[in-house]
Amino acid sequence: MAIIEEEFTDDRVIGELIEALGEDCVMVGAAVRERSAGVWRSDTVQAKALLRPRTTEQVSRALEICSANRQSVVAHGGLTGLVGSAITSPGDVALSLERMNSIEEINSLDRTMVVQSGVILQTIQEAADDQGLMFPLDLGGRGSCTIGGNISTNAGGNRVLRYGMTRDMVLGLEAVLADGTVISSMNQMIKNNAGYDLKQLFIGTEGSLGIVTRAVLRLREKPESQATLFVAIDEFKKLALFLKHMDVSLGGTLSAFEVMWNNFYRLVTTEPAQGKPPISQEYPYYVLVEAMGSDASAVEAALADAYESELIADAVVTQSEAQRLQLWALRDDVEQAFRYAPLFTFDVSLRISCMEAYLDEVNERLSAHYAEFQNFIFGHMGDGNLHLVVSVGQGGDEDRERVETCVYEPLAAIAGSVSAEHGVGTEKKPYLGISRSADEIQLMRKLKAALDPNGILNPGKIFDLEEST
Ligand code: ZN
Repeated sequence: MAIIEEEFTDDRVIGELIEALGEDCVMVGAAVRERSAGVWRSDTVQAKALLRPRTTEQVSRALEICSANRQSVVAHGGLTGLVGSAITSPGDVALSLERMNSIEEINSLDRTMVVQSGVILQTIQEAADDQGLMFPLDLGGRGSCTIGGNISTNAGGNRVLRYGMTRDMVLGLEAVLADGTVISSMNQMIKNNAGYDLKQLFIGTEGSLGIVTRAVLRLREKPESQATLFVAIDEFKKLALFLKHMDVSLGGTLSAFEVMWNNFYRLVTTEPAQGKPPISQEYPYYVLVEAMGSDASAVEAALADAYESELIADAVVTQSEAQRLQLWALRDDVEQAFRYAPLFTFDVSLRISCMEAYLDEVNERLSAHYAEFQNFIFGHMGDGNLHLVVSVGQGGDEDRERVETCVYEPLAAIAGSVSAEHGVGTEKKPYLGISRSADEIQLMRKLKAALDPNGILNPGKIFDLEEST
């Protein structure tokens, strides 16, 4: 082991990094290889070093050194990503923001919070809540994911319908460019049209244009009430009409519209799953609806109207927080699908008007290849975002490619997206061309070349620097 350690510290870049940041900030050898490569993964980090800077200045110094040595760098947040965006190779340097985890300021009058990028999302939610405010971003990984990771992937989640994606909740940020330049764009205002909105260069770009070190977040007033209901619907067309009906009736308070297809609902409400069906399992569609800031009477009136016009077949309105959590637990119990592993998971985006025909086509294509398969469907339908979890009984590369083609190809004709909220990373890189034109990808390359001329930041993710021939 000692030999390996020596081999690593002999590396010139590592030597320079240790000299600049101190040994305490530069992890090498077995210590790196013992760290998990991701919350959902079973492998460990493969990298020549893992940096754990404490300040923006240290991030800047580290990137300056890596840039001069043409050393690749991959930023690490909470490692909850689903597309391989933070995966490293043995020749990479990983840079974890885990020590930059302070909330620097909360201003309840301006409704802003200044954070370092290693703060866990749930910590931010709780800190806002303590002030009677809310940071609306919410997703399953809340207890592990960091705001820096949320920003770099433009995370979506459960309340996009009302509050938008991460992009809509970041007022300003600080990022370090590949050459070590610190771009401080810590805007505190909702409106600022003084030139280019530079923060957008670093939101949703998966650490490929710079490393986010701090951010100014936009907080909202915490809604005083919250109504949650669960309904069954017997036709796809009525799903879309029910969404419109609730949006109109609830005066802008609709915050979640989560649909489960029958097979997903059965999966999470049948043993060995812990969940019990709140409504019988016979309907094709189920919707979890949440309205933040709406009182129960408005919701009940809207539901009564929906019944009368036969939009919905059955419904339950939650009476307690415990019931509310039970419904969300059904929606979040994706793990039940692991019984059918290996799995292929997707987060596609498409117009609601195209959904029914699209899903028919995906299933038709799958059935042309596989006599038996499972395609569990659920998602944030209010945002046009569906999650598909496909099992075909085997999980080799050939099957992966075949299943991916079945799911992604039909998106081209309807101008859908291969990634609604998870990003591209390495997983969706081969399919980027389905959702982005050649000119768009070429412009992405130009931006990359301008900001990171040596191509050291998260190389090989999203797209290749050279157009393949
Ligand atoms: Zn989602």
